[in-house]
Amino acid sequence: MKAMTAKDTIKTHYIDGAFVESHGQEVMDIVRPTDGQVIARVTLGDEEDTRRAIGAAKRAFATFGRTTKEERASILRRLHQSVSARIDDLTTAMVEEYGGVVQFARLIVESGVNAFPAAEKGLEELALTQSRGKTTVTLEPVGVAGLITAWNANALFICLKLASAVAAGCTVVIKPSELSSLQTQVMIECLEAAKLPKGVCNVVSGRGDVVGAELVRNPDVAKISFTGSVAVGQSIMREGAATMKRVTLELGGKSPTILLDDTALDKAIPAALILAFMNSGQACAAGTRLLVPKARLDAVKRAIVDAMSSFAVGAPADPKTGVGPMVSEKQYERVQSYIRKGIEEGAELLAGGEGHPEGFEAGYFVKPTVFVNVKNDMAIAQEEIFGPVLCVIAYDSDDEAIRIANDSKYGLHAAVLGTDLQRARRVASQIRAGRVVINGMTDDPQAPWGGFKFSGVGREYGKYGIEAFLEPKAILE
Ligand code: NAD
Repeated sequence: MKAMTAKDTIKTHYIDGAFVESHGQEVMDIVRPTDGQVIARVTLGDEEDTRRAIGAAKRAFATFGRTTKEERASILRRLHQSVSARIDDLTTAMVEEYGGVVQFARLIVESGVNAFPAAEKGLEELALTQSRGKTTVTLEPVGVAGLITAWNANALFICLKLASAVAAGCTVVIKPSELSSLQTQVMIECLEAAKLPKGVCNVVSGRGDVVGAELVRNPDVAKISFTGSVAVGQSIMREGAATMKRVTLELGGKSPTILLDDTALDKAIPAALILAFMNSGQACAAGTRLLVPKARLDAVKRAIVDAMSSFAVGAPADPKTGVGPMVSEKQYERVQSYIRKGIEEGAELLAGGEGHPEGFEAGYFVKPTVFVNVKNDMAIAQEEIFGPVLCVIAYDSDDEAIRIANDSKYGLHAAVLGTDLQRARRVASQIRAGRVVINGMTDDPQAPWGGFKFSGVGREYGKYGIEAFLEPKAILE
């Protein structure tokens, strides 16, 4: 990808199979988080751009909604090919525009690329027509879908939502995060290269309360698939009710990592820190509450201090970097305010603290921070910080660990680290979360992803993700 310069402005959206000049005129700076410099600009779309895109998706749905599995699979294969060809460019864009640490950014992009074959497999396994006696049930595409994404893995969310929607036979209007314009531009080029039928996939960049709100309010949009904050998710549910929107909401988390007392710390602590600091802590699934047996607290503290050197702050493009900058000044300030709050609440700093790390005074770098002596009712243990801040909480028994893990309004993700697998499974089965990993982060593109409680509504990935874009219809003779 050619590096963009401050003189460059992205001025187009992708509507009805063409790059279209923005009707909206507001221009926004794209700021590099490593030094706060403006690296490019983007013209934001408005309600008119959004309505044009919805119109194109509606026209395309008349035909695309009736396609066969094989026709949809062939589109998924073309998308897979075109996005695969741009893995490097997408990774570079993520490093540049939100300071994504290169190793992790690449994993995110690859995971997005894999969403297309995974959806193809999910579609293959899904019976779109089922007959029982004189009853036939068909799973029909819900209609035009609005896909609204968060910035922290924007390219992955676009791929994932698009793959599921296309597999279901829906046409889409994508509203990417406004903090992800460079990635979005590459993604649009991928859509163009995949030669999709006109109007099947449209992209309008713009503000949430302008472009996103129009998608939520417009009666021609049947479904919203959203990834982002609880507050916006709630507003989508509220505002979408007027037009009876179907919604999938992938929201926040405050995920527990339960370290069982039979765990070998030399492996468990690095695994717990990876869970806490992945994507520089800016991950919905980040394991930001580490629950440890009280009797092993001192050994845990020593192991954390020893392991912190692997999570050094650095330039996100450097493959040795563990933690990069926060995405924006606002996010930097948010993390600082929580570190202050933790100190005021009486938690004890084991690592990190307020301010910039030494040598990284420019940009939005924060210190990877670990608090010990944390009580689960403290704000730092209950609220999503979305930065590299880990809370260590001590427990006495497995039952108490489970109770603390579940004492959260969130329920997106959890981890259990332990040697006795039967015991780890027993603990995992009692955690109220959409996904629990045992002994470290791992993935399965056919396994459902989504939250209990305030972490969301509905599931993505595999057949669960495709079903979210389908309506069952029964014909009885
Ligand atoms: P955000 O809610 O501020 O924005 C998300 C998207 O919603 C953006 O595209 C934004 O423009 C749009 N939006 C804003 N106001 C809107 C409105 N009124 N109507 C429609 N759309 C609107 O979230 P963010 O800061 O981009 O992302 C961080 C949040 O996302 C965190 O809470 C994180 O946990 C969550 N997240 C969840 C998952 C998951 O899979 N569960 C994954 C990643 C991030």
